[in-house]
Order: sequence, then structure tokens, then C-alpha cells
Amino acid sequence: MDVEGHLVEEEIERYSLAASAEPELSQVEEHLLLCASCRKKVETSDVYVNSMRRAAAQIRAEEKRAPRWAGMAFLLAAAVLLAGVILIRSNATAPFAVSLAVTRGVGINAQAPAGVPLALQLDVTGLPAAASYRVEMVDRAGKQVWTGTFPGRPAKPLPAGIYFVRLYSPAGDLLREYGLEIGPLLK
Ligand SMILES: [Zn+2]
Repeated sequence: MDVEGHLVEEEIERYSLAASAEPELSQVEEHLLLCASCRKKVETSDVYVNSMRRAAAQIRAEEKRAPRWAGMAFLLAAAVLLAGVILIRSNATAPFAVSLAVTRGVGINAQAPAGVPLALQLDVTGLPAAASYRVEMVDRAGKQVWTGTFPGRPAKPLPAGIYFVRLYSPAGDLLREYGLEIGPLLK
């Protein structure tokens, strides 16, 4: 607990990982009953823990069918991803990393939680090379809700809804559009 009686980051992390021991576990659960702000932090932490578990499960699945060297490359990539997640977590306003890849046809490409900054990771393979692309986010009605660059700063936190992320060339040509659902994550 910190000086104001709230949970510190390590306590939240242990609790998310189901690694809290007594008497800490009881103290944490008691505090969570009373404190919405710490409950919120635990929810955010749970999202990260789940995505790390998924990444780990994917590595195991990948190792079974890929030759050894491919498994190593995947592990390395996953390690970089986890390092990124850990880096992001250490910030006060932890952005949520959203990978937007091209899929067949139209539809929703990704999901993200509401109310957190979004670190957009856009698949730019096959696009004309550029040091920086222009990015625009619009809501379902086509109203612009955020603009930025890729690579660049995280997108601002948005309320739940369906959004479209548009990627433009530096000259302003629309290159790609990705659908993004913001709201409660499907487990
Ligand atoms: Zn608290």
C-alpha cells in the first residue's frame, strides 16, 4: 500500500498474476472492495496479463510445428513485444497496443479497451516507404476523432464504439483503412 492506502504497482501486478500471498492477498481484496480506482488499475493489468498469456501460448503452439530456428525467431519477436508491453506499463497512462493488420474484405480488424491511450501498430508491408505516415481516426459516422502520425504518439483515449483508422501517405493519399472496435474486450 502507498501512503494514501492505495495499492502499489507491484501489488497490482502480483494480484493479476494470481501470485499474491497472505497476508497481502486479504489486504488487497479488502481494499479492492472499497476502491474503484484500484479496481480499474487491476482491470487494466488483467488485460496485459491476458495478452502476455496469449503470446506465450502462441509461442508454444508455434514451436510444435515450426523448425527450431523459426521458434527462436518467434521467441525473440515475442520477447521484444513483452519488453514493449513492460515499457508501456511503466508509464502512468499506460497505452494499449493495438495491432492493425490487413484482412480480407471489410470488417473489424482489432479490438481495444475504452478510455486508454492506443499505441497503434499498423501493418505497412507492401506500402510505399515513408518516414512517417499520416493517421486519422474517425467514428462510425465518419467524424474525425483523432489525427496523428505513424510512427508517432499514442492515439487519445476514446469511448466505446466502432472506429476506422485511416492511413495516408505524406502527400495525403488514402492508403489503407482498418476497422477497430473499442469496448469491453472479448475474453
Ligand atoms: Zn485504492
